[in-house]
Parts: sequence; structure tokens; C-alpha cells
Amino acid sequence: MRPFYIVGNIKMNLLSKVECEKYVALFRRELSGKGFVYSAGVVCPPTIHLSRFTHLPPEIKLGAQDVSWERSGAFTGETSPLMLKDTGVEYVIIGHSERRGIFGETDEMVALKTETLLKHLLTPIVCIGETKEERSREMTVDVLKRQIEAIFKGLSPMQAEKVILAYEPRWAIGTDEHPTTQDILQIKIFLRKLFTELYDARLAERIIVLYGGSVKSMNLKEVSWEAEMDGVLVGRESLFPHELVKMMEMGEEYRKGAH
Ligand code: PEP
Repeated sequence: MRPFYIVGNIKMNLLSKVECEKYVALFRRELSGKGFVYSAGVVCPPTIHLSRFTHLPPEIKLGAQDVSWERSGAFTGETSPLMLKDTGVEYVIIGHSERRGIFGETDEMVALKTETLLKHLLTPIVCIGETKEERSREMTVDVLKRQIEAIFKGLSPMQAEKVILAYEPRWAIGTDEHPTTQDILQIKIFLRKLFTELYDARLAERIIVLYGGSVKSMNLKEVSWEAEMDGVLVGRESLFPHELVKMMEMGEEYRKGAH
């Protein structure tokens, strides 16, 4: 059975070594004495802090917030997938709406990054999602289709299965608004159909999809398992280790019951 993912995106927060140490210590304390079989936690700190997060307990994996599609060379400011790997990173968020919206990242760039990560045996967590305007113009499904076709165009079925998708409606990020369970479920049904067309029904069942956008323990159930999602991508609440651990515990209970 695949795990229930709780992925924390710390974004450009935790501004010093001391803040990182405090965060890691809190996380360790929250996790102490707790075991997880069905829930998997991933924490994605800023790149410069990654090495400060390598002492988290083994149930928490290390993730990064972005990567270069190049391996090495004259690419000022970029981070190589090999550097991430060497630091203990296993997962990398790409195509986050802040990277797409603020830094002009295109579907093509996200596709290049996805391919690079797979080549270096890192797991891409690829964000997709529509803006408020696209939603109000009923373009959600077209936008998701365009994003997914660009990303998966060059991927074999074996590679495609290794990608984790994060459906993050842009209007739900940082807003305390989120779609209903029914809305998210409709997206899941659409994705299953799209992946059946692009690959086959078996692969469509296996693709891991997370929901992201204003998630907290209070709404976890309605935006994740009730909507057939395999976990969540968490922004603001990831600054509170107790919230992440609480969500891991909730996911654990749910999966145990479903087993
Ligand atoms: C995000 O930025 O990916 C996110 C989901 O943020 P928040 O949880 O704060 O809405």
C-alpha cells in the first residue's frame, strides 16, 4: 500500500541557523515515541538550510523546493540535482505556483526539471493548478490538461509512475479558501481519465496525487482521503512541527482503518 504523504513546504522561512535548530528540535520532540507505517513525512526547507535538516528522524524524508535542469556548469544561482542528492534530498517540489507566477517558470521548464530529477533518481513533486480567473472561466480542466501533457510528454510509463502530482489550485494557496471535497474528487476523476488516455488504466490508478492549498489538520480529512487524495502539500502550517506530526498521525489512523 502506498503511503499517505504529508509534505511540508517551508518556503523562504526559518531565517537563521538558530531557527532551524529550534524547528528540528521541536520536530524530534513531537515525533518521539511515535511510529509510522502508513504515513510518510517530507520536509522541504530552503536550499541553504538543507544540511541542517539531515538529522531528522528516519520517518521524515528531506525534500527541496526547486532544482536546476542542468547537471553542472555556468548556471549562476542554480542548484544541481547532484548537489541535492549529495545532501540527502529524496524529493523535490517543482512548478510551485510561486515559481510559475513570480519567477516565470513555464510548463516546458517544469518538464525539463521533472526529467532531470527522474534521471538522477530523485522524486519530483510536481505542482499543477488553475488561477482564480481560470476557475471562474471554467478552464480548470483545460489548464490541468495542458500542464500535464507538457510534463508527461517525454516520460515512459515507468518514469511517469515515479512522479508525485500535487493539485494546488492557485487561488487556494495562502488564502484560507479551499475547494470542496466534491470539487477535488472531480479533479481526481479527471486525472484518472487523462492518465488512462495518456498511458493506461493501470498506470492511472497508480499515479500519486496530493492536494495542496490552505491545508491544516482541521480540514485534512475533507481535502485528502475523502477526496481520494494520497496526501497533502502544506505551506503555512508546515512552520509548526506539531501540525505536521498531527496530520501524519491522522493519516496513519485513516490508512490503518482502511487496511
Ligand atoms: C503551498 O504554498 O504549496 C501551500 C499549499 O500553501 P498554504 O498551505 O499556506 O496555502
